Amino acid sequence: MPKQPIYLDYCATTPVDKRVMDKMIPYFSGKFGNPSSREHLFGWMAEEAVSEAREACATLIGSKPEELIFTSGATEAINLALRGVAEDPPLKHIVSVKTEHKAMLDTLKVLERRGTEVSLLPVDGQGRIDPDEFSNCLRPDTGLIAVMLGNNETGVMHPIKELAARAKASSALFFCDATQSAGRIPIDVKELDVDLLVFSGHKLYGPKGVGLLYCRPGVKEHLAAQLTGGGQEQGLRSGTLNVPAIVGFGEACSLAIRRQQEDTVYLSGLRDDFEEQVRVHADVYIHSVEAPRLPHVSNLLFRETDGAALMARLRKFIACSRSSACSSVMVEPSHVIRAMHFTEEEALASFRFSFGRPTTREEASDALRHLADCLEAIKQE
Ligand SMILES: *Cc1c(COP(=O)(O)O)cnc(C)c1O
Repeated sequence: MPKQPIYLDYCATTPVDKRVMDKMIPYFSGKFGNPSSREHLFGWMAEEAVSEAREACATLIGSKPEELIFTSGATEAINLALRGVAEDPPLKHIVSVKTEHKAMLDTLKVLERRGTEVSLLPVDGQGRIDPDEFSNCLRPDTGLIAVMLGNNETGVMHPIKELAARAKASSALFFCDATQSAGRIPIDVKELDVDLLVFSGHKLYGPKGVGLLYCRPGVKEHLAAQLTGGGQEQGLRSGTLNVPAIVGFGEACSLAIRRQQEDTVYLSGLRDDFEEQVRVHADVYIHSVEAPRLPHVSNLLFRETDGAALMARLRKFIACSRSSACSSVMVEPSHVIRAMHFTEEEALASFRFSFGRPTTREEASDALRHLADCLEAIKQE
């Protein structure tokens, strides 16, 4: 087997931690019960495991367990929040941002076609929102505000607490996509003062296919279920719970609570050294260095460089990405970099390197060496 490239795409997904996997395994076969089976031991065991996991997920974000709705991931949770709130009665106006994840933007487009007006805030060259522009965008009929905590392509963090405070005077609900941030920075839903928040398991060393929606007390009443049936998750998300994945999600959250501070110090150090050393290349521009950023991501623009040619060489050595992994099979210029006022060519020459708990110092320095070699090689082409 050929040597695998160095994985520097932890924003796209993370490997399941060994401790998470060990905790999940009994729930595939031995403890396989359906948590909705209330009449026998198999059901009770599954129910107990789900409730323990729910407790752990709640602790990570400072909520109560009963405020969480498990889903199949952040995408589904975003759909539930947006469609669920906007449906009945139909919302007149939603405020969001141009650099949100596609799961948010594409769902907003659906709502727009159904008659909801959507205002997307612009960002500056660093990926930041102007809080005054945000305030000016709010209207008496604004029903929902959707702003992510940390961006999945640049790591740029928006001042959610400040924005939520500015929105306090309006009756709009505040919804925050924390998928890239949960487990990477401390999150407290009370302190942020948000009404709805989502994140998912596979970005924090948990399994794929599980996520959740946090709903502030009283907000559930405004939410219309998008999956109907057995009435699981307080009737808001029917379907037999994915018990092994939920158990793994809970364990990943417990680990994140214990590890987050240590991980942040390590990853931001690694990222800063990486950026310090990459600066020797005169043509490299580092995106969003003036903005507050998540600790684990570095987005580099290689000026005057054919992005496709560089990727063709680099991917043999480093697994990194140019636009969000979820956008499509085609490589489209990143809408996030484009929103930051860069050209299509510049967006296609912007590479995201993201680090994770398993990334070693050696991997980071090997990656820099491969990057230098590839940049040199395409100059010779
Ligand atoms: C990964 C990601 C999503 C989608 O999450 P899934 O669980 O894969 O559906 C949404 N928003 C952000 C910011 C992400 O990073």
